[in-house]
Amino acid sequence: MTEDVLSESGALGVPAVVIHGGAGEFGRVSSPDQLARLEEDLSDALETAWEVLGAGGSAIDCVIEAVACMEASGNFNCGRGAVATSQGTVETDAAVMDGMSGSFGAICAATWPESPVRAARAVLALGGPAEGPILLAGAGADRFCERAGLAPRVAASLCGEGVAPISRSGTVGAVAVDREGHLATATSTGGRLGKLPGRVGDSPIAGAGTWADDRSVAVSATGEGESFLVAGFAHRVDWRVTEGASLAVALGDALGSVRSRGGHGGAIVLARDGCFAVAFDTFAMARGWRSKSGSTIRPLRPDNDGRPGARV
Ligand code: ASP
Repeated sequence: MTEDVLSESGALGVPAVVIHGGAGEFGRVSSPDQLARLEEDLSDALETAWEVLGAGGSAIDCVIEAVACMEASGNFNCGRGAVATSQGTVETDAAVMDGMSGSFGAICAATWPESPVRAARAVLALGGPAEGPILLAGAGADRFCERAGLAPRVAASLCGEGVAPISRSGTVGAVAVDREGHLATATSTGGRLGKLPGRVGDSPIAGAGTWADDRSVAVSATGEGESFLVAGFAHRVDWRVTEGASLAVALGDALGSVRSRGGHGGAIVLARDGCFAVAFDTFAMARGWRSKSGSTIRPLRPDNDGRPGARV
């Protein structure tokens, strides 16, 4: 099913952070209570991110903390709330990229880490792409996380709270620009509900779901990852901005390429001057942004008020 592309853009100034909690076609929110929880989680993530930026912290620390906060909530399809594969297992993907150095780190199809984004950061610290690997998968990623001393994931069934994400399409991401004008991005997901074990989407792939370069933009995407992968989504956004397109036009073009390959979803993009854009073609995309002038949180489309039964 196809919705029109909803596009939002503006100038936040520097520093600034923009987050998303996933784009989806279906049942993100089924009650006012769930909507309130989603808004609270987005607000917590924005405030956590802002604490880092407000204290003069780096963009990369900011995006890690924002995403780790949403991973810990259990209400998104990532970290603690990650959805199951067709075998009932959980396999997570996450990536982080530093726009200043071009360093990238990611894990995919990993079962070990409680915080996949922190695992991605540990991979980034190996020095890639110049010095080391940038992407670790499956059993190798798990071994790496264990040896790095990263906390293991507690299975939802062991949490005692019946953890289930509000949305099975609740991938999360953050893009930030710090006081020095450096960009960073991070994305974390459980992938698609019922996916084949070993399936990997766009989120942990540089230039597909996750990308940051101080010379252009920081991007984090969400949606049907196969189409974002084939479209080279985030590289397309970068390329169009480098050619002179506005952020909103670049996002719209790249999303068009995803749609032409049968996929739907959305993304957030931020430039060094604090200008940002958000676009999505799904019924809902949880999103928010924070700058010196305050925060904005928008879980749904403007034409969708989130009443139970509303098309979200
Ligand atoms: N893009 C993610 C994936 O395909 C899923 C999502 O964003 O909902 O793994």
